[in-house]
Parts: sequence; C-alpha cells; structure tokens
Amino acid sequence: MNPSSTILNYINGELVKPQNNKWLDNYNPAIGKVYSQIPDSDEADVNAAVTAADAAFPAWSNLSRAERSKILFRIADLIDENKTALAEAESIDNGKPVWLATRVDIPRASDNFRFYANAILNFHDESFPMDGKHFNYTVHQPLGVVGCISPWNLPLYLFTWKIAPALVTGNCIVAKPSEVTPMTAFLLSQICMEAGLPKGVLNIVHGLGHSAGMNIVKHKNVKAISFTGGTKTGAVIASEVAPKFKKMSLELGGKNPNIIFADCDFEKMLKTTLRSSFENQGQICLCGSRILIEKSIYEKFKTRFIEEVKKLKVGNPKNDDSRLGAIVSKPHFEKILSCIELAKQEGGNILCGGNAIKMDGECESGWFIEPTVIEGLTQYCKTNQEEIFGPVVTIQPFETEDEALQFANATEYGLAATIWTENISKAHRIAAKVESGIIWVNCWLVRDLRTPFGGMKQSGVGREGGMHALEFFMEVKNICVSTS
Ligand code: NAD
Repeated sequence: MNPSSTILNYINGELVKPQNNKWLDNYNPAIGKVYSQIPDSDEADVNAAVTAADAAFPAWSNLSRAERSKILFRIADLIDENKTALAEAESIDNGKPVWLATRVDIPRASDNFRFYANAILNFHDESFPMDGKHFNYTVHQPLGVVGCISPWNLPLYLFTWKIAPALVTGNCIVAKPSEVTPMTAFLLSQICMEAGLPKGVLNIVHGLGHSAGMNIVKHKNVKAISFTGGTKTGAVIASEVAPKFKKMSLELGGKNPNIIFADCDFEKMLKTTLRSSFENQGQICLCGSRILIEKSIYEKFKTRFIEEVKKLKVGNPKNDDSRLGAIVSKPHFEKILSCIELAKQEGGNILCGGNAIKMDGECESGWFIEPTVIEGLTQYCKTNQEEIFGPVVTIQPFETEDEALQFANATEYGLAATIWTENISKAHRIAAKVESGIIWVNCWLVRDLRTPFGGMKQSGVGREGGMHALEFFMEVKNICVSTS
C-alpha cells in the first residue's frame, strides 16, 4: 500500500488514469501546498466503471454470504495492519491531527467492514404462515450496481460506512470519495486488490461532484445512490434520482443543539462540550454548534468554557499535543472566516477566537482558525440557521424547558442533539420532543453501529447503520405459496 503523488482510479480491478488524462490538484491543508494529483474523471470513466461493475455482479451476487463476508474480514485486517500509514495519509489529506485519525477514523473504517461482515451472517428473512393452505416468505436480493458518494470530513470512515454494507449484500459499486480528500480511498483500492476482492466488484472513480459524481447519479444502470454531504448537494441529487425512482439514502448537514440544563454534571458536560464543539476542527456533522444553556448557570458556563477553549492548542497535525489541526481547504477556510464576519455584522459578540492563525515553520502557509465562541445572537439569524462546519459555536441562554425546545427546534435541520441533565424524566421528555434523528443524553458521539443513523427535516432521507443499511442495499420480495 503506497501513498503516491499520483492518485489513480480503481476500475475493473486495476489502477488506471482518467481517460481524458485531466488531473486536479490535491492539497495538504496544514502546509497549504499541492502534494498530489487526482483524476478529473468524467462520463467515460464512470461508464467504464459501471460496465465493470455490471460484469462483476452475477458472480459476486452468487457467492454465499459467508464467502463475501470472508473477503470483508480480510479487508478489515489489512486496514488494521496499515493503520499507521492510513492515519498519516488521512491527516495529510484532511488536516486533522494524526492522533485523531489513529484513534477514530482508521479503526472505525476497519470496524465498518468487520461489523457488516458479521451482520450479514445474522441477517434473516421472514415467513408468514397463513391458513394451513398458504404461506409467505421473504427474500432479500441485491440491487445490482449502486453508487456511493462521500464527503471530506471523515474520509475513509464515511466511505467505508457505505461500501461495506453495499458489498456484503452482493452489490457491485461505483464509488466516489470527495475530491478534497481522495488519498485513503486510493489506498483502500490497493487494500482491496491485496485482499482478493474480485475485479469490478468495487470501482472507485475520483473527480469533481458535478462531473464524476453526477455521472454516477445519472447512469441508468446505477440502481441506488447512497450519498453523504451537504444539504444543497443532496437536493440536486434527489431531483435527478427521485423521478427515476432509484433508491436513495441522503445523509446531509446539521445545525445541532447542545442543550445544557442547570442540573447537569457540570464538569462532565464541560469536558464533552469542548469535544462536541471543536473535535475535527468542528467539521463533524454531529458537532453541537448551537449551545443552549439554562440561564441560572449561563455566566458560570461562559466563564469556564472560554477559559478551557483558550487552552485548546491549534497546531501542526503531526504533533500529539495539537487538539485542533488545519481546516480542510482554502475555500472552506475562507467560508468559515466569512461566517465569523457575518456573525459580527449580525450583532454577535466574539468571546474568544474569531481569527485565522499564522503558524511558524512548515505550517506557515496552512489554513488554521482559532476555536471561536460567539454570544448575543438570536435563533433566527443566519449564523444560527446555516451550517458553518468549522470551529465556531454560539452560546445562548434559555429560561424554561419550553424555551429550550423552541430554540433547539428552530432550524430546518434535524440531525443530532445533545441533552445535559441529571433529571431522568426531563431527559426523556426533551429527547422525545427534539426534532433530531440522533439524540445523546449526557454523552456525545458514542456510536453503536447497530443503531439507526440519520437525520430529520433537511438533514436527510433514510437511515444508515445496522440492518437499515443492509435493507437499503437490497430489494425485498414476498413470495406467497399455496400448499394445498
Ligand atoms: P458536498 O455536498 O460538497 O460533497 C459531498 C460529495 O458529493 C463529494 O464527493 C462531492 O464531490 C460530491 N458531489 C458534489 N456535487 C455533486 C453532484 N452534483 N452530484 C454528485 N455528487 C456531487 O459536501 P462536503 O463539503 O464534501 O461535506 C460537508 C457536508 O457533508 C456538510 O454539510 C456536512 O454536514 C455533511 N455531512 C453529513 C453527514 C451525515 O451523516 N449526515 C456526515 C458527514 C458530513
């Protein structure tokens, strides 16, 4: 497995150049420089990938579940064996600290393969005996060729979260990682070759969303699209896919509330809130970017939180003591800074942070932003309505449970929410009424891969995780038999 200055497409079991021989620059955001080239693939490459996937489908879908599962276990083992190299590659490509990629991203990628390799062996169909003369049974069948499109914030983690369930259910895949962070998907193609995944079963086409991505979405032989990314992109994809009645799973943006009641375990909440605000530079769709605090502890929270945020070290992603690394790209860095400017125009008071950071040494041209805390904004201003997806949070006091709920539900998004209280009845009451697909009570980002994962409102359509993903990637058929 070799990181390389030239990333190649993985089509029909081979690493190949794009047919048009066009390339895109790939940046290391911590040093602000180009360090590799990636294919700027177009329709011709997507067509070749779909043709390869179509050809591979009969044999792959006819393998037993156990045989497919065995190959997924092998891929998981190879990811673990190459953990250090993958974590370093993820950090260089994305700007996240190496320690974070080592502790979270790469282990989760192998967990995704192992989890679905096991899950398929436990997946069962149903039977419905009727009147002694008839009975029904269901069969789940793979869809054929499916498209998987993923974003840049958790590159290998989210890419494999789609690929593993799609593969193990017998589908063949044309996948596209984000053009901003393509390296670990390229390394995964080498791992799949080493693991003996038959040619054409997984094809990885690199390139831009509107060309490579849209050609996957539009291709008539692609039966389903599993997409994770921004809400606006999700809408474009849905408008293409829905009239063709393809299956689609859309995991989109969030503007998640972190609701803190006065009766919480303050120290535990504070420690976790630092993470839920700024982990991965705040570039996790599940980060709690709107912190709502019960008025009686607002000033105490504000003082302690700011004190702790100021201690968070932003630094070279290679260093173990860097809590935050670089922002993923220059356009995203500029977008976050413009959101901070907008917050000021909207009347926001910057309590800490708010600026780009100029590093010394090899990171002097990298894209770094201080963790930023803003107060004094209403729920309905743009800063509190639109996803920033960076190290920026707002804090706002609330007076009553009803007001906390009203604030929590005041956006068009509904992905995740966190609730902090030691009152168990209140926790359940609020959890039932917050309009989010995922709720954490007195914790954050604790993940059990069996649970449904996804958002309400403009945060998405459908659920990933556990049996939900297996069912998404299969068609269920009911067969009714007369026995008389
Ligand atoms: P994005 O929507 O710009 O891109 C995501 C992927 O879609 C990329 O691979 C991109 O190339 C591709 N793409 C873009 N336009 C396309 C098109 N017209 N057709 C087909 N493919 C297209 O998102 P991003 O900036 O990479 O990621 C950040 C967003 O992802 C944030 O909004 C974040 O909240 C969201 N996200 C959601 C989840 C979740 O599980 N709900 C998880 C992670 C990130």
